[in-house]
Amino acid sequence: MTDTDARIWLSPPDVGDLERKLLLAAFDSNWVAPVGPDLDAFEAQVAELVGVRHAVALSSGTAALHLALIAAGVRRGDTVLVPSFTFAATANAVVYLGARPVFLDSTPDSWNVDPALVAEELRARAERGALPRAVIAVDMYGQCADYDPLLDACDRYGVALIEDAAEALGATYRGRAAGSFGLAGVLSFNGNKIITTGGGGMLLTDDSRVAKQTRHLSTQAREPVPHYEHRTVGYNYRLSNLLAAVGRGQVQRLEQMIAARKATFEYYRSELDGMTFMPIADYGAPNYWLTCALVDGDRDRLLAALNAKNIEARPAWKPMHLQPVFADCVMRGGDVSADLFRRGVCLPSGSALTEHDRKRVVDAIREG
Ligand SMILES: *Cc1c(COP(=O)(O)O)cnc(C)c1O
Repeated sequence: MTDTDARIWLSPPDVGDLERKLLLAAFDSNWVAPVGPDLDAFEAQVAELVGVRHAVALSSGTAALHLALIAAGVRRGDTVLVPSFTFAATANAVVYLGARPVFLDSTPDSWNVDPALVAEELRARAERGALPRAVIAVDMYGQCADYDPLLDACDRYGVALIEDAAEALGATYRGRAAGSFGLAGVLSFNGNKIITTGGGGMLLTDDSRVAKQTRHLSTQAREPVPHYEHRTVGYNYRLSNLLAAVGRGQVQRLEQMIAARKATFEYYRSELDGMTFMPIADYGAPNYWLTCALVDGDRDRLLAALNAKNIEARPAWKPMHLQPVFADCVMRGGDVSADLFRRGVCLPSGSALTEHDRKRVVDAIREG
C-alpha cells in the first residue's frame, strides 16, 4: 500500500512533541497517580479558558455526567430531559442513577435540542406536578445549544440545567464559552474529541458546593481523617496526573486545532455542492469538531464507497429513542433527529488532516 492509500480516520488524536515532553516530565516527577501538579495545572488552565471558577478533572466525560447529575440531586425514580440526538453516554448516565430519560427532538436550525420543546415539556409537567429533576443540553458536533431560551425555561420552573459540552471545548454562545452554562458543564478528552488525554473528562462549575462534592465523590468519598472513613458511596473517577500532563499540551494547541478543523469544514462546504451541511446558528461559533452533512442520495452507499477508498466516515448519531436499550422511554417532538440519522454523515475532520487527505475525501464523495 502506498502512502496515498493510508487510512483517513474520522477524528484521530493530534498529539506531538509538546505533549510527549510534558508526559515524560510528569513520569520523571514520579507523580504517577490520580493526584499531582499536572492535574492541578490542567484544571486551572481549562477553568481559565472556559471562564468558570472550578474544574475537576475526571476519568471520562461519562463520569463527569454521572457526577453532574448527582450534583443536580437526581435520584432513583426521577425524570431527566435529554436530547434524543446525542451519543448514548448522555442518556446512560441518567440510567446509572435509576432515573429515566425523556427524549426530546432536535431543531433543524442547529441539530441541537429544540428549546421550544423543552419549554413545552416543562410547562406540561409543571401542570401535572411531574417536573424533571434536571435537563441536559448537548452541544452537538461542537456547536452550542441555544442557551438563552433553555436557561429561561429551566429557571422558570427551578430545574437544573447540565451542559454536555463533551464535543464542544472552544465553541462559544453569545461570547460565552461552551462548558460554562447551567449548574455544571461536562467535557470529554476521549481519543476522538477536539483535544484528548487518551481518555478523560472534566466537570466545570461556578458553584463551589458542586466542585467540592465532585472532588469528594470522585476520590472514593474519603472523609478527611487519618483512617478510612466513608459516609457515602464514592467513585474512583479521578484523572491520572500523567494524562493531565498530555492535556496541558493539548489545551495550548486548542486554537490552532479549531482553526484546522474549521478550514476542513470550509473546504468541504465549498467543494461539495450536493450536500447540506449542519447549519451554523448565528448565536455563536462552533469548534468544528466534526463536519457533518445530509446526503440526498443513498447515504449507506456513500459510506461504503468511502470505506472502499480507505476513508472512515460515519452515519450521524442514531437517536436514543430509536435505540433498543431505550425502547420503553418517552420521546417528544417530531422526526428531525430520525431524519438526521437517516441522511447524515460525519466526514473526516481531524486537526492533522492534510490538504491531500481532504482532497482525497472530496474526490471519493464525488465519485460515490
Ligand atoms: C464523547 C461524548 C460523551 C462521553 O465522553 P467520554 O469521555 O467518552 O466518556 C458524552 N456525551 C457526548 C455528546 C459525547 O460526544
